[in-house]
Amino acid sequence: QEEFARRIEQNNLLEVLNAVPVHKGDILFIESGTLHAIGKNILIAEIQQNSNVTYRVYDYGRVGKDGKQRDLHIEKALAVTRRVPIIKDNSSYPHVADCDYFTVDKLNLDGSFMKKMEGTVTKESFVSILFMEGEGTISNDGETLSFKKGDSFFLAAGSGSYVVEGKCDALVTTIREKAAPVRIGIDIRGSKTRIGLVDFQYQLLDEIETETKTDIPAEEFFANIGRQALDLLEKHSIGVDQCVGIGVGVPGTIDRKGGIVRYSNNIGWNRVNVAEAISKVIPVPVVIGNDADCAALGESVAGVGKDYQDMVMLRIGTGVGVGVLLDGDIFGGRGFGGSELGHMVIVDGGELCTCGRRGCLEAYASIAGLKREAMRAASIEMSAQQIYSQSKAGDMVMRRVVDTYIHRLGTGVVNVANGFRPQLVILGGELPEDQETVLGPIREMLQKECFGREHGDVPEIAVSALGKNAGVIGAASMV
Ligand SMILES: [Zn+2]
Repeated sequence: QEEFARRIEQNNLLEVLNAVPVHKGDILFIESGTLHAIGKNILIAEIQQNSNVTYRVYDYGRVGKDGKQRDLHIEKALAVTRRVPIIKDNSSYPHVADCDYFTVDKLNLDGSFMKKMEGTVTKESFVSILFMEGEGTISNDGETLSFKKGDSFFLAAGSGSYVVEGKCDALVTTIREKAAPVRIGIDIRGSKTRIGLVDFQYQLLDEIETETKTDIPAEEFFANIGRQALDLLEKHSIGVDQCVGIGVGVPGTIDRKGGIVRYSNNIGWNRVNVAEAISKVIPVPVVIGNDADCAALGESVAGVGKDYQDMVMLRIGTGVGVGVLLDGDIFGGRGFGGSELGHMVIVDGGELCTCGRRGCLEAYASIAGLKREAMRAASIEMSAQQIYSQSKAGDMVMRRVVDTYIHRLGTGVVNVANGFRPQLVILGGELPEDQETVLGPIREMLQKECFGREHGDVPEIAVSALGKNAGVIGAASMV
């Protein structure tokens, strides 16, 4: 850059410029920002939107209309000039030129063997044709015009089929069809993290599942997550510029504006700048939210809550996450705390909760709570699904464990319904295969126990439609 500046000043820039010998028929693509000049008998086709920006760095001693030397734009030119020589090769093959903004192809009709070219102007791109040699006719949109050397035609996007007939050498410019933009949604749970590629119709296109690593520094974990998100884009040949952003759902207390996890008791993270750690690896906007809020958002944009404005979702897993949407928006409360309805006390002085209090809903309605009660009742370690199936098969001990579990969960659901009067309560996370086992009794509790009963509005209850994808899709929808 210093030499470039010095040579402009000393007027000897031409000494170091690269001369590229050309022959008739050669086409070179000179990318924007490249210092260039042409010799005689060379045609320059500037493919660009209307713009009068030319940064002049050398003017061959010419003068303007007023007789004075024309202004040079040295500082601006220094900032934008690519100081790499153009290489005469075919790197854009099979195109004449191909870049982020346009693609140029060469059309050659010899007038005998090849004398006609038919194409279609789709809605995705206009077609611009510059005839460098020859003559003939061009038809499009019900019109036929003749062309000769030097003419150019602009066929508007969506104008349909076109035909070029005659003899010609022409440059045909179109906008390359690019992949539709996508978003990435990341759902971080106690043990597993899922990274999903989500399109603009909120369909999950692909995903990666990875372990939620708590034995490495959090920044390192999130940098790894960023790299895996990059891999996912690469796998689908989607450029980073096609990714609108990343939404991350994290359990715990979230500073949404700052992109910071203030505290996550289930994972042990304390003041972690998630947005910064991820965007260091993948340069797109990163937004974060509470995982339960993200699951509720997912159901509201693409799941069972699509037709509702006010809903509450309880997600059952390692803990009990509760997301509240009022008027379609996350209810975040004041400050960073968010709503933590999993930590409402349902049994005064009851079981010790991960938060340090006793008797929280989470201490009973989480999977950990269910397993603990089964262990106490039968002294065998069982998975939630084993507990549910033994209960269904008629095991009276497990039946009692499950009934008590559902009743406690139902107490939490009724309290939430009384607090927010949602139109819909959604249950997600780990539920028995036969969902009605849980839905039925809780529906009955809502009808009997909601304040005002039939005189008020008793919310409906449903199971998540997106299942384990709710968090990923909801996280992506925050971007
Ligand atoms: Zn608690």
